[in-house]
Amino acid sequence: MSSSFDPRTIVPAADELAGRVIAITGASDGLGRAVAFDCARHGAAVILLGRNQRKLESVREQLEAATPKGREATVAVLDLEHALAADYDRLAEAVLERFGKLDGLLHNAALLGLLSPIEHYDVPTWCRVLHVNLTAAFALTQVLLPALKRSPDASILFTSSGVGRRAKAYWGAYAVTKFGAEALTQMLAAELEGISSIRVNAINPGPVRTRMRRQAYPAENPESLPAPESLTPVYLALLGPASRGVTGMSFDAQPPPATAR
Ligand code: NDP
Repeated sequence: MSSSFDPRTIVPAADELAGRVIAITGASDGLGRAVAFDCARHGAAVILLGRNQRKLESVREQLEAATPKGREATVAVLDLEHALAADYDRLAEAVLERFGKLDGLLHNAALLGLLSPIEHYDVPTWCRVLHVNLTAAFALTQVLLPALKRSPDASILFTSSGVGRRAKAYWGAYAVTKFGAEALTQMLAAELEGISSIRVNAINPGPVRTRMRRQAYPAENPESLPAPESLTPVYLALLGPASRGVTGMSFDAQPPPATAR
């Protein structure tokens, strides 16, 4: 398959993800929560990763109520800001013990940090955003690679952003982490191509009606933006069999905005 692959054109079959185990970071809210629901609806056993057990349990309950009986959702608490090596190892061991493999890993969790000029950017916030958005995704990938290698068709999906491809003033550490996600995507894809069946891609969701978007654009009318649920088919295409053979690419979940005449 070539670069002509467009995940926005894929309509997932009802059982598209049957038999697959998919882990999603930041599954407690926004895009991560919506993707987790849709993965479960299409047959996957989902691992809901996040920092807030109460929120994750509530997502699990709602997800199990909204999907056919027997669909599995597993809560895994991992605070990406504070987790230590032993926490990552425990998670990786639990995934192997319970499922024996991992077919999909969506790096979705992120912090916005500050919108501020570099000249005044708060250094501790910079470190925190780099750690949660980028270093933790690297560490989680590393520790879950053995489980991903046990899948016949695994997909790792990093989350990028418009400011991860073209930086804009004041986007600070957040934009740097999204450039980092694009770099990790390309690097890991090149390292794994030919020696494993793992593909690695990135997705830029574009503007979406979530808490993070409200934080970045408080004056914007949220109703003018697509809901996270409307974009989940693109994620499913990249996490599931439709994207087999596609690796090292960065995709947009939304079409480009129409240009004013
Ligand atoms: P939300 O703020 O709605 O959700 C962020 C998620 O990340 C939450 O589940 C949150 O958990 C989790 N999270 C934050 N910090 C940690 C941590 N320390 N450990 C574990 N989990 C954590 O954001 P969106 O859904 O909007 O964003 C999802 C992804 O999409 C992000 O990578 C974002 O950068 C990207 N994106 C979003 C756009 C948009 O317009 N919304 C545009 C471009 C990219 P908790 O619920 O506990 O806070």
